[in-house]
Amino acid sequence: MKRIIIVGSGFGGLAAARALREKVAKETEIALISPRPEFLYYPGLIWIPTGLRSPADLRIPLESFFRKHRIRHIPETVTGIEDQGRTVVTDKGRHANDALLIATGAATLRKLPGIEHSRSVCQGIEDALAIREKIESMESGTIALGFAGNPQEPSAVRGGPVFELLFGLDTWLRKTGRRGKIALTFFSPSPEPGNRLGPKAVRNLLAEMARRNIPTHLGSKLKSFSPEGVTTETDQFPADLIVFTPGLRGADWVASTSLPQSPGGFIKTGKTCQVEGWAGTFVAGDCGAYPGPDWMPKQGHSADLQAETAADNIAAFLEGRQGTREFRVELVCVVDSLDSGTLVYRTPTRNFLIRNPLLHNAKSFFERRYLARFR
Ligand SMILES: Cc1cc2nc3c(=O)[nH]c(=O)nc-3n(C[C@H](O)[C@H](O)[C@H](O)COP(=O)(O)OP(=O)(O)OC[C@H]3O[C@@H](n4cnc5c(N)ncnc54)[C@H](O)[C@@H]3O)c2cc1C
Repeated sequence: MKRIIIVGSGFGGLAAARALREKVAKETEIALISPRPEFLYYPGLIWIPTGLRSPADLRIPLESFFRKHRIRHIPETVTGIEDQGRTVVTDKGRHANDALLIATGAATLRKLPGIEHSRSVCQGIEDALAIREKIESMESGTIALGFAGNPQEPSAVRGGPVFELLFGLDTWLRKTGRRGKIALTFFSPSPEPGNRLGPKAVRNLLAEMARRNIPTHLGSKLKSFSPEGVTTETDQFPADLIVFTPGLRGADWVASTSLPQSPGGFIKTGKTCQVEGWAGTFVAGDCGAYPGPDWMPKQGHSADLQAETAADNIAAFLEGRQGTREFRVELVCVVDSLDSGTLVYRTPTRNFLIRNPLLHNAKSFFERRYLARFR
């Protein structure tokens, strides 16, 4: 009996699990290793600070999904990979496999002096709740929101959720009559924040900030955070709450393996999602460094596309064939603002955006439909 191991129960791991169950022989064992049998739906975190979502809405237990798709869940944490991928080492033991898919997501750079004075809406439920509590306790003051990239790896940046929280907070504070007393400000070391979404999107985002009376501090390297505010190389501005998403980097456990790695610590992977030079070992989602244009996104949609590609090529590998399917490079996101939304679409040949108030509801509808498959 053949055995496939998937590592990670996020977007990439779960999309691969579903696809593999349909593609491989019935008797093939599929085991998934992750610390807990649950899926955290990150895109919904932006709605926790304004009370539109609660933690229970976004933490989806996976027991019934695993039962339905005959996936064996192993509640462990991977610490290493040996034998060119054929042995997975965890905090509790070792697991042999005939094919492996790695989808353990990305870590963040947390080296900026004073970073402990900031919260990140991308960090998880605890930080999102802390942002909510702090804003609820504020009678007046300034909230500074920003993000940075990874100088070693241009694609390792997550700005979308920061724009969404910024615009969402503006809408919510206005609705609740508090915007007059609570100022919002946006900062980024990039002079063109959001440039991976395309040049039109950058113009659109900056114009939206101006329209909402949100001052910006752009193009200056960040130096430090303190309880008083933000210091950059050329500027200093006050903040009672700093909401900051640092650049992304590869996970620590990857660094300790002989897996080929990019400068930012991501696993070097080909267009077929196979790890470079490692037959039978594949990657999907944020943990990979893939060939493609420099704007290629690290997003749930890409993780899904990569997972389906990897699943096809794993099925071929187990049949003794070389899989040749390549993943599609496509950026699709809705930048939500609670009262509206902007759909951004980008491929190597097309790039457009559409703004429409219905897109807020569309994002919510998509979430419900996406999560239904795991309930
Ligand atoms: C606030 C926010 C909003 C977002 N909005 C959108 C959006 O609107 N649209 C979109 O497409 N994308 C969005 N994204 C990006 C998207 O969430 C990520 O790109 C996506 O989660 C990546 O999926 P993944 O499977 O690679 O990793 P993850 O979803 O991070 O999953 C990683 C999995 O691996 C497990 N794991 C980690 N380390 C180990 C280990 N050592 N051993 C075993 N298991 C391990 C984790 O527990 C987890 O189950 C958003 C992200 C954030 C933070």
